[in-house]
Amino acid sequence: MQRPILISVGTRPEIIKMAPVHSELRRRGLPVAWVHTGQHREMAQPLYEFFGIAPEHEVTLERRNGQLSHLNALLLEGLSTVFEQVQPRAVLVHGDTTSTLASAQAAFYQGVPIGHVEAGLRTFNHREPFPEEMNRELTARLAHWHFAPTAKAAINLRNEGVRPPGIHTVGNTAVDAALAGTVRVESLLADGHAVLPPELDGLREGLAHRQWRLVTVTAHRRENWGEGIENIARAVADLLDAHPDLAVVWPVHGNPAVSDAVQAALGEKARRLEGRLTLCAPLEYPALLWCLHHSVLALTDSGGIQEEGAALSCPVLVLRNTTERPELIDAGAGVIVGTDRQRIVQTVSHLLRDATALQRMRDAVNPFGNGTTAQQIADVLQHDLGI
Ligand code: UDP
Repeated sequence: MQRPILISVGTRPEIIKMAPVHSELRRRGLPVAWVHTGQHREMAQPLYEFFGIAPEHEVTLERRNGQLSHLNALLLEGLSTVFEQVQPRAVLVHGDTTSTLASAQAAFYQGVPIGHVEAGLRTFNHREPFPEEMNRELTARLAHWHFAPTAKAAINLRNEGVRPPGIHTVGNTAVDAALAGTVRVESLLADGHAVLPPELDGLREGLAHRQWRLVTVTAHRRENWGEGIENIARAVADLLDAHPDLAVVWPVHGNPAVSDAVQAALGEKARRLEGRLTLCAPLEYPALLWCLHHSVLALTDSGGIQEEGAALSCPVLVLRNTTERPELIDAGAGVIVGTDRQRIVQTVSHLLRDATALQRMRDAVNPFGNGTTAQQIADVLQHDLGI
């Protein structure tokens, strides 16, 4: 094989968002390889199967503690060994994780040009999200190509002194993945494949035959652990009481700080409501896409779901006090509601009662692109690398 473009990622959102780039490079017959950095190993396999990716390389992380410095050191050493062996012509990293920064550092030490996908997102607060905000900034210092999802992200980079020829405003690959993934999921379901877990059977039945309206809820961020999650759960209970046609699916994050609070507030209700409230384990990506596609609204503190919601015409209420995706709010496709119980209940109730307001949000133009981001990234790489 010729020296490949090497995609270096390890967490769930990175795999989802780099899969379209991998697929486009492969479609063009360009040399491309994948290294899995081992961060979210258990979640990774089903994703790789869904996207048809077989990573050629993997870093095995033997973690002795949960410290970021230890993780970073292991990644840096493991990735450097892989890069030595592969001799990539370019390394592509995504977003803001410890894998992102370590991959960029390892590539930099070997003089390999770095492409940063989803570049330029900022909260301007190094403590929130931590350490992601700093990972974003440091990766920008190291990268050669900066693939910004929006004009705002491009401006953030320029304001930090990144030179404009290196900045390419291309949209977000989350949109490519969500649009293509949803078509695939619906066609797999039509062919009778078991894409959804059995826990969603009651919900599917209710949506098909009882005119239920679905809201998808997710919450995992550390800043929401404790009081935030409790408030969100109580708001969900209030909403289910107030709207008899409302159904809620909440894939509950595995951390006990989240799951204990959700079960305490909603476990009994979920048993009573039989399908109208589904509390389940984190869903595999295809099932999560199905939920968003069939939801009238999403309540979430996730970054990726803000982009997927916008792609799938599912308005997003952001369960945070800030978002590094302000374009969602500016476009009218989302609202920041924080974790205040009253505010969540009032905002959701208003949208469930006012069909025009809800439709206006559903019709908002997606600020994160139209599903051609991977093509645009491949165009730039092909041109600049002369391949
Ligand atoms: N996701 C998933 N199953 C779930 C919840 C989320 O597949 O139960 C996907 C979601 O569709 C999105 C990604 O995981 O693509 C977002 O990951 P996460 O919320 O962990 O991270 P963030 O986007 O906030 O960085």
